[in-house]
Amino acid sequence: MTVDELLKQVDIVELISEKVELKRVGSQYRGLCPFHREKTPSFYVSPDLGVYHCFGCGASGNAITFVMETEGLSYREAVEYLARKFNIPFEWEKKREKKEGDLYDIMDLAHNFFVERLKSHPPALNYLHERGVKDEFILRFQIGYAPPDGDVLTKYLISKGVGVDKLIQLGLTRRTEDGRFLDFFRGRIMFPVFSHDGRFVLGFSGRILGEGEPKYLNSPDSPIFKKGEVLFGFNLARRAIVRKRSAILVEGQMDVIAMHQMGHENTIASLGTAITPEALKRLKRIADTLYILYDSDNAGLKAAHRAMNVAVSLGFTVYIVLLDKGSDPADYMREGRHIDNIEKNGYNITDFYRMFYDRVKTVEGRGRVLKSFMETVNLMPDPVMRQLYIKEFADSIGISADLLETYSVTPKTPSRYTEREDRVLDETYALWAIYRSGEHSDKLREIDERVFRSTVTVELFRAMLRGDLEDRIKEDEKLASLSVLLESRRETFEKVVEDVLHSWLVRSYEMKYAQLSEEEKEKYLALIYELKRRKK
Ligand SMILES: [Zn+2]
Repeated sequence: MTVDELLKQVDIVELISEKVELKRVGSQYRGLCPFHREKTPSFYVSPDLGVYHCFGCGASGNAITFVMETEGLSYREAVEYLARKFNIPFEWEKKREKKEGDLYDIMDLAHNFFVERLKSHPPALNYLHERGVKDEFILRFQIGYAPPDGDVLTKYLISKGVGVDKLIQLGLTRRTEDGRFLDFFRGRIMFPVFSHDGRFVLGFSGRILGEGEPKYLNSPDSPIFKKGEVLFGFNLARRAIVRKRSAILVEGQMDVIAMHQMGHENTIASLGTAITPEALKRLKRIADTLYILYDSDNAGLKAAHRAMNVAVSLGFTVYIVLLDKGSDPADYMREGRHIDNIEKNGYNITDFYRMFYDRVKTVEGRGRVLKSFMETVNLMPDPVMRQLYIKEFADSIGISADLLETYSVTPKTPSRYTEREDRVLDETYALWAIYRSGEHSDKLREIDERVFRSTVTVELFRAMLRGDLEDRIKEDEKLASLSVLLESRRETFEKVVEDVLHSWLVRSYEMKYAQLSEEEKEKYLALIYELKRRKK
């Protein structure tokens, strides 16, 4: 069965009804959009086409994307989720399943091995108990133990018929210089890293029991494990994150366990040092707000600052939560203390920088804080939010917002200004390409000129509609040289038309949406569905 065939058997109205109250209107269903806040419904579901679309925020897709967005799953995981939910006997194509299936099975064997060892090794269990981890959470996180002896796991897995090359591929075994095989993890408490749907163990993070270096050791990347893309604890935190639309980011595995034990079940951690955009992108689909709860010593603050910038650039609302200096959630757990009021105690970006601003006593130091603040704010994708933060900070220290806005560092990457210029040129060029392609003149009339960012484009657009573009080019030298420039990129016209025309049309309809009758809305809906479908 192909994914398309599976989709035909999925009842998208039933699926979405679990999260959204849908009412029938004509051949479609309508409800309040689950992806943005609204009071009047602009979220439509078409059972015939098997798709949804929101006129308020532009969210749209099919059953798979709906599950990906609302449950925070990958494409593959979402397909399997639907198959289970609707009792559809779905299997991935054999070849791929076999290759990866093998690797998952091996990880599963290794994981069970570690879990069994923990039961029979009291010092390891004691260590966890002393740190305050309750048995219930040892089970929930499926923690294990890797014995210190050289190659017990390797021997065990080979006895189960697993080839040693696969063990090396998965980072369970390594080859010594003299050619022997050694377990990768030895004498460590083992935290399994699960796939985001919790079905597979992808890798491990091992904490040394007793003294030794490194304190934490992660599985190397493998065909099934990409450290930078996985969040530890996501499989257990997913539901709470979806419910609260927020997540708490902590530094280590023990911190995640501590937070879950304290009832903060929307807590996750990155694997390894720095959080990556790839890992946070996955989170962004199901959360709007990120609380960063790192150690408040200098190293922790630096890491929090880095994480904040990554999160801000993806459009998260970010709060930094500071604990007592030098202590992390794991310390609280060990001491039997509790962390409350995360939501209330977070510093927003302004408060966070204001704290440093007040701490620094020199004028030059304060200048650096302002530059750093502007760096962060400039990462925000939403220009209105950017302005609001600049104004809030400027007001709080008593300077003008305009002045603060000019106070940016010389950027390493192309500045916002040239980026904006580029975008304007791209926009003009795209319009040109559509016009020159000739076959879309009818669609051109459907575009609302408010979708354009620059006046040059609007001018061009109006001339196209009036039909006097050629005359205008003859009269206007600037337009003439622009047209030569645009024409020189001719070979890429076709691709641009496909990419851009569709999104302009959709945005145009969305702009006109409020003024349309129900009947017209349905007509537009069908068109938008069709456009989106064709794009895929
Ligand atoms: Zn919406």
